Amino acid sequence: MAQALYRRYRPDTFAHLVGQDHVTDTLRAALDGGRASHAYLFSGPRGCGKTTSARIMARCLNCAEGPTSTPCGTCESCIELASGGSGSLDVIEMDAASNRGIDDARDLRERAEFAPVRDRYKVIILDEAHMVTKEGANALLKLIEEPPAHVKFIFATTEPEKMLPTIRSRTHHYQFRLVPPQVLRPYLETICQQEGVQVEPGVLDLVIRAGGGSVRDSLSVLDQLLAGAENGSLPYARCAALLGYTDANLLDEVIDALGAGDGAAVFTGIERVTSSGVDPKRFAEDLLQRLRDLVICALAADQASAILPHIADDQLARMKQQAEQWGSRLLSRRADIVEEALANMVGATPPRLMLELLMGRLLVAGVAESTPTVQPTPPVAAAPQSRPTPVPAPVVSQPTETSTPPAATPQPRATQAAPEPTPREPQPATHATNANFTAQWDRIVDEAKKLSAIAGAIIRDAKATVSGTTVYVSLAGPLASRLPANREKIEQAITTVMGPGWTLSEGAPPADPKVPAPEAAPHPIEKSQPAPPHSSEPAPPPPEPAPVLEDPAPYDEAPPMPEPEEDLPSEDDRDIEAPPPPGVPQVLSILGGTIVEERIKEA
Ligand SMILES: [Zn+2]
Repeated sequence: MAQALYRRYRPDTFAHLVGQDHVTDTLRAALDGGRASHAYLFSGPRGCGKTTSARIMARCLNCAEGPTSTPCGTCESCIELASGGSGSLDVIEMDAASNRGIDDARDLRERAEFAPVRDRYKVIILDEAHMVTKEGANALLKLIEEPPAHVKFIFATTEPEKMLPTIRSRTHHYQFRLVPPQVLRPYLETICQQEGVQVEPGVLDLVIRAGGGSVRDSLSVLDQLLAGAENGSLPYARCAALLGYTDANLLDEVIDALGAGDGAAVFTGIERVTSSGVDPKRFAEDLLQRLRDLVICALAADQASAILPHIADDQLARMKQQAEQWGSRLLSRRADIVEEALANMVGATPPRLMLELLMGRLLVAGVAESTPTVQPTPPVAAAPQSRPTPVPAPVVSQPTETSTPPAATPQPRATQAAPEPTPREPQPATHATNANFTAQWDRIVDEAKKLSAIAGAIIRDAKATVSGTTVYVSLAGPLASRLPANREKIEQAITTVMGPGWTLSEGAPPADPKVPAPEAAPHPIEKSQPAPPHSSEPAPPPPEPAPVLEDPAPYDEAPPMPEPEEDLPSEDDRDIEAPPPPGVPQVLSILGGTIVEERIKEA
């Protein structure tokens, strides 16, 4: 049976210890300057070299030519304390996890009293030192407070805060860290070379990820892979499968499909992910990791290769392309979605289902992003034509209208906004252009978020279009009803970013002939979701008043049915959807949709 890699490659000197230079440099300087302390505390995550350092320290202290930072390696002590050596009588190594009681502490104290058998110091290494009981620690305290000149203590622990403060304060405390990939990679490469194994690109990344920055864990993973190597080579696909990671190609495939908005390809990819045995949660984690890399590609531009040194050049080029295609905004939004989904991937819902729903959300986010914010305003000429003045008038003067507070509150602004922009159209040269507006949209969302989380959420999800000095937002879903209450905050956010003079209006811009613009603007709760064309015909709730839109006549002749007063919400229930004014707009707002054809009902 071959010895484990991490034991075979356990360093014998500080020079060979990986990734803890901040500790080893100081220790070496202390040793060479004759300033070694009598008690050390090495803390840090597991597998980072604490115990190994303690052994090296003992070797340095007891070398016949020492104390020195470069033990000779040939004296008896050095040979005994080398990795694989027999161990020295003068170095006592104890695991506090199994020797934690007061008796063990007393025993240790007695052994420490005796002078070293052969070497300079009696070195006591106490591993997992936080496990010592309080009584045991108190028994040791005396020894540490007034140690005999020949005794050196080295405590190693993953949880220094659990140690008795009186002990901790009498030690020199060194904190070990997880080893970063940039350091670990060359080290693992050297080991693979020494083992005579050819490693396919990407394999070491998997090892480093699986090791989580712990040298020992990384070596254990590598060990496992090496054990299964055939003909001295480690193929990537096999290693990925063995470690349960998503094959990078599969990840690429799903990312490309998401980028193209190709739902079929996305779900085929997911099918392959699950059928290849990858845990859906693991896949989501891998996806998040990839999104993070893409965000870096998008934002760090040329520096990306320096920040992501583990990614091969061809892969990086491909990722840059993907990042460009998505844009940093969509990337970070999708990363948020994945992160949120990951947090919810616990409990009873089958993970695969969650993963598929997650893909759905990611696709939707892409769609929302590609039709987003600002569409260029169509020519001014279109505006007046689709805005016959008579129409807004009757709507506004509905008797019910004046007595409806929520509808009326935003009304003044909206009404003023709707008919007026046309005359003002030439003026907004002083305002930002549409393109500017698009560029600033994220900032506006951020500003709104600062004022209120809801306001931020509302406009984040809104579809905004600029026409003249009016920002038209259309909203679907539950947030739509929250707009009136948050209108002021959103306007304030727009003003903060774009300067004064903007008006917020709900609905689609007037120029779109398919959307009944004059109505869209004044109604606070206009829902502009597209709906199936037939939706205007059945219209069950108030079917009669479906009048002609373009023609104001039916409005005058047959006033729409009156609104039942008692159902009107009061000023303070802000979350209640304010009832839209009656008539066509009401039918539209209840059913959603676009008017395709209108028929006048024969009397
Ligand atoms: Zn020596």
